Amino acid sequence: MSTFAAVDVITAKRDRGELSAEQIDWVIDAYTKGDVAEEQMSALLMAILLNGMSGPEIASWTTAMLNSGIRLDLSGVGRPTVDKHSTGGVGDKISLPLAPLVAACGAAVPQLSGRGLGHTGGTLDKMESIDGWRAMLSPAEMIAQLTSVGAVICAASADLAPADRKLYALRDVTGTVESIPMIAASIMSKKIAEGTDALVLDVKVGSGAFMKRADHAAELARTMVELGAREGVRTTALLTDMATPLGVAVGNAVEVAESVEVLAGGGPADVVELTIALAREMVALAGLDSDPAEVLRSGRAMDSWRRMVAAQGGDPDAALPTPKHREVVVAEASGVVSRLDALSVGVAAWRLGAGRARREHAVQQAAGILCLAKPGDTVTVGQPLFELHTDTPERFSLALADLADAVTIAAPGTVVDPFPLVMDVIRAD
Ligand code: URA
Repeated sequence: MSTFAAVDVITAKRDRGELSAEQIDWVIDAYTKGDVAEEQMSALLMAILLNGMSGPEIASWTTAMLNSGIRLDLSGVGRPTVDKHSTGGVGDKISLPLAPLVAACGAAVPQLSGRGLGHTGGTLDKMESIDGWRAMLSPAEMIAQLTSVGAVICAASADLAPADRKLYALRDVTGTVESIPMIAASIMSKKIAEGTDALVLDVKVGSGAFMKRADHAAELARTMVELGAREGVRTTALLTDMATPLGVAVGNAVEVAESVEVLAGGGPADVVELTIALAREMVALAGLDSDPAEVLRSGRAMDSWRRMVAAQGGDPDAALPTPKHREVVVAEASGVVSRLDALSVGVAAWRLGAGRARREHAVQQAAGILCLAKPGDTVTVGQPLFELHTDTPERFSLALADLADAVTIAAPGTVVDPFPLVMDVIRAD
């Protein structure tokens, strides 16, 4: 591999130059090994955030992060593999019903997931509400479960895209997360390393999402779809609304309970709609012709869920944790809910203990919020809008402050046009 001086790579990007594939390979490799200093990589990240990257640079950055670790070989699982990745939202529990549903449709779903940081929840934190459930599986255990059950939700092993792990931690503390090229490369390097044949991306748009604007979300989606196609991973992206939390439940155990309701044939309409929309794309990319709505109705997705949970030591029949303290927020006026702000609800749930402020902190499994009225619902004064759950009641006051402006109630009779949940679909050319 060629050798460069880190300062030359930094100044090239600072001066809006285009980095060569050799420069990018070198800087990612040298940083991962500790040969490029944290302050040098911080300067390069800021130059990238400010000056952007070209298509070829993004592709090289992704390949270099992919090549920093192993790429799993899932060719032996005996079914087409297809995964879903969400850019993160509030109440976004879709992976929980989706993975077993798509497995019941005939595919294998290798859901390598993360933990929550900040106001967006993490799939592993939710699944850990289930008594006995284990997030850490070896690659061999993961492949064995994919073969036998068809679905696995587990933590990514440390040798998948280790460069991204180190870079993400640095971006987090240097104000350089919000770069579309780096977000695209970070997500896609991990998903390509996971070895899936196909991938459906759920790119969230709105106050509760990373991307607040639809044009930015579309650019992120197109960049990721192109990176997938380039690496031979059939990739489609859905742009979906995250102005309002998904479903009723926001938290850990409460989101597991809502996911089980969906698998049992009930659950909130928006959660069911998005689960089916994503499952249809996944099934199509996997080349299967099952109808996810019919499979959900048949109860076969619930059977897959129970087998998936049990395979990882979890007891699908165990009672979920319940909070020590609850508090209810009621409507101060009668009318129609015209806005329910996802970010405010996500931050309030985080304050109640559902999320963590630092990676090493533990979450409260029972903490969270139930959103009891959604946009379009008619409410009367005194009717409960939110139920807050925590084990540590001193957290209520801050969470209540976050919720103070979370809901707008319009005059009785106001017609609230529903936002489309799926705003756009972006496919490879
Ligand atoms: N999620 C990731 O995995 N990486 C990012 O950069 C942002 C969100």
